[in-house]
This record gives sequence, C-alpha cells and structure tokens, in this order.
Amino acid sequence: MKNINTRFAPSPTGNLHIGNIRIAIYSWLFSKKYNGNFFLRIENTKEKNSFYINKIIYQLKWLKISWNKKIIYQSNRNKKYEKIIKLMIKNNKAYYCFCSKERLKNIKETQILNKEKPKYDKLCRNLNYKTIYNNIKNNKKFVIRFKNPDKNYTYFNDLIYGNLKFNNKELDDLIIKKSNGYFTYNFCSTVDDFYMKITHIIRGNDHISNTPRQINILKSLNCKIPKYIHVPITLDINKNKISKHNNNYNIEELIKEGFLYESILHFITNPNIINNIINIKYIINNFNINKISKSSIIFDKKKLLYINKLYISKLSIYKIRKRIFFYLKYTNNKFIINKNINKILKIFKNRFSTFNELFIITKYIFYNNNINIQEIYLYINSNKELIEIITKFLKNINNITIWRISNIKNIINKLLKNKNINIKKKFYFIIRKLISGVDKTPELYYIIYLIGKKNTIERINLIINYYL
Ligand code: GLU
Repeated sequence: MKNINTRFAPSPTGNLHIGNIRIAIYSWLFSKKYNGNFFLRIENTKEKNSFYINKIIYQLKWLKISWNKKIIYQSNRNKKYEKIIKLMIKNNKAYYCFCSKERLKNIKETQILNKEKPKYDKLCRNLNYKTIYNNIKNNKKFVIRFKNPDKNYTYFNDLIYGNLKFNNKELDDLIIKKSNGYFTYNFCSTVDDFYMKITHIIRGNDHISNTPRQINILKSLNCKIPKYIHVPITLDINKNKISKHNNNYNIEELIKEGFLYESILHFITNPNIINNIINIKYIINNFNINKISKSSIIFDKKKLLYINKLYISKLSIYKIRKRIFFYLKYTNNKFIINKNINKILKIFKNRFSTFNELFIITKYIFYNNNINIQEIYLYINSNKELIEIITKFLKNINNITIWRISNIKNIINKLLKNKNINIKKKFYFIIRKLISGVDKTPELYYIIYLIGKKNTIERINLIINYYL
C-alpha cells in the first residue's frame, strides 16, 4: 500500500486509557508498516487549554509514538469550519434550524410514545430566505444542521467488521454547529480527515454509527471517502467497558506503577507471545490489521505484569537504574536510593514486575520495619541452642572487618554446620524476620549485606536484649 495517512484524534477529556492507547498504537503501526504518515489531532473544539492535552502528548511520547509534522488542534481551525459551513448552506447541504429546546423535547417525547426512533422532524429544512434573515436579525437562537439524505443506503466496507449498510432514513439531520457557536464532533472530524488527507481512519467501534453520517457529509462535499477500521472495544477483566476515569487502566497510573513502555507495546500488539521479548521491528513487520478479531479485547493486567517482569529481567542493570531514576522523578517519589542500588538490582532482578513492587519488596533495606519482637520471642520459646547460635552470629557479624557477601555467607555456613534441619529453619526464619520484617526475601546473606553491618547488629540486638 502506498501513501497511507492515519491519525489519532483524542478528545482531551481525561488521561488516555489502555483502550485509547490500543487505537493510537494500531494507527501508528499501520502507517509505519506502509511507510505512511501518522498525525496527532487534538479534538478540543471547546477548550483551548486543557490540562489533559499536555498529559496526552506526554503519554504518547512516553510510549515512543511519534507523529509527523505539527500537532493539529481543532480549536485553531474554526475559520476553516465556518468556511465549510457557509459552503454547505449555500449548496443546500446544511440549514439553519431555529427550533426551541422545548419544541425538540416535545417531538422527542411524542416519538418515544409512538415507539419511533427519536429524530429531528426537519421542520426548518425549507425555511425561506426572508424568515432566516428575520430570525437572525431578531437574535433568535439557531443551530446549523446537516441535510442528511432521506433516501437510499450508506455502505462502507470496514476492514474488521466487513460490509456495513445503514438506511439513510434512520439517520438524523445532525447538528454541525451549535447555538453557542461551537462545531460538533462529526462535522469537525470529517472536515479534518479530509483536509489531512487521511486514507485510513482507525478508531474505536463505538464510532461505527457515526461513520455513515460522516460519509454523507463527505459525499455532500464531493470528497473522497477514506477506508474505515473500527477496533473492538477494550474491556476490563470483569467484561466492563474501560473508562478514562478508572485509574487501574489509565496510562498515567501504569507509568506510576512502574511499567515499561516496551511491555505495554508488546502486550497490546502480541498478547499471545508471553515468553519472549520482541522488538519494534518485529512488531511493525508482523502487524496485520486484518488479524484483529471482531470480539472485544479483555485487558488482563496479570498478563501485562508478567510481560513487564520479563522485560525488566532482560534490561541491563544500568538501564534499569536509568528507568528507576525517571520513575522516581515522575512519581515525585523521595525514595532514597543508596550506593548499593546496583547490587540491590542484581539481587532482586527477577523478583519484581514493576518498579513500584521493587520499592515495596526492598523497603526494609532502606527503612526500619516495624518488627513484631513479641512474635519472635514466642517463636524462640527460650530454646537455648537457638539463643546461643543467634548470640554467636551477632558476635561474628560484629567481628567482620570487610563487609563482603562471601564473609557473611561463611559465617552462616560455619555456624549452622552439623545443626539439625529444624534449628537451621528456625535460625533463618528468626534472622530474616528480625532484619526484614517479612517472611520471604532473597538469600539471607544478600539482604544482610544490603542492610549493612550497623543495621543488622541493631536489629538482631532487639531480640538478644530480651535474654540479657
Ligand atoms: N475524538 C474522538 C474520540 O476520542 C475521535 C474519534 C475518531 O477517531 O474519529 O473518540
């Protein structure tokens, strides 16, 4: 395919969620695959400065999605829209409608009572010039409506959903300019897609019903009809529609949890590959829009966690550290990273799925945990042998001159040599609990090393002091 132009056209009403990101990624990959252009259009007809515009741009950049040329803002294009509206009125493709809200409400109520589909009754379609002129002169509020064809069908061949057919009779004369002067989505989006020479419109399937309306607008302007690709909706694990306001699924929260952009890209494009990492070249070459199924896609966060863990485990320590610094800055996290960070990462490398998790599972290295001494005391149950081993262990730790993992390991091995398995188990449990506050950690000598001599002694002393 040649001369492909695609676009992503978010409305800046919230953070991007995983469903939006899917659309952005598909549009971007489709253009990449065919050496086309990918554009970013912000559909902000209402507000010029939205808090979310910057966020959306940031989130797309974070995902390493790049677009051609400048970002297009609908708020800068009112003159263009106005020009087209004038042309449509002149060509009898659009018209002034002065119907009051009350009137519209009444029509709707009657139609619902008669079990008809609510629709504008086209009263203002054929107002004469004089009436229009007088109404405007008298400051009567008006909207501009598109004159939707009354007859025939509108067809399009969706690349995912196949041939779709809509009866024009069912489509409303939709408002293209509101009484407050703002232009509406269906109109702006259609006009922009035309000016931007978009060849393939890739968007959520919640827009399927808009497509025949947009095609009719294009036809009324004698414009070429692009190809349409409606992507199935993304659902959460309970099969509910994902919304921008659910934090679990918005991209900002995923960044804050410490996901990598690579794993999100992988998860969205190749969810069935779970044991290998893949690179962008593979993703582009294997991207095939025809392979997208019609059924909704379920966002399984557990799978994403799994893939993220895999990606983190494949990064070098240097790269993980760089990502962590970004992560801490982004989340405004004041977590203190000490000089041991490289060792911490080496030891914990295959043990965490997100950076957030890394900080949870290594917290005891940096901060004193609340240790339940009473629990440990009861556990020791005045067992003489155990107390003796722990006391010896403390003494030996104290005597270490060079703080090395191998030295700590030697002490433990010597101390536990020839001891029965029960005592060994108890020793590990007690020391681990004392110095970390948790039951599961990497090998004891690693964490003792990371916590440091001073802290280790302090924490073990907590229990020894009980017996002094
Ligand atoms: N602004 C619309 C949305 O966010 C874009 C729809 C389209 O791509 O045409 O859903």
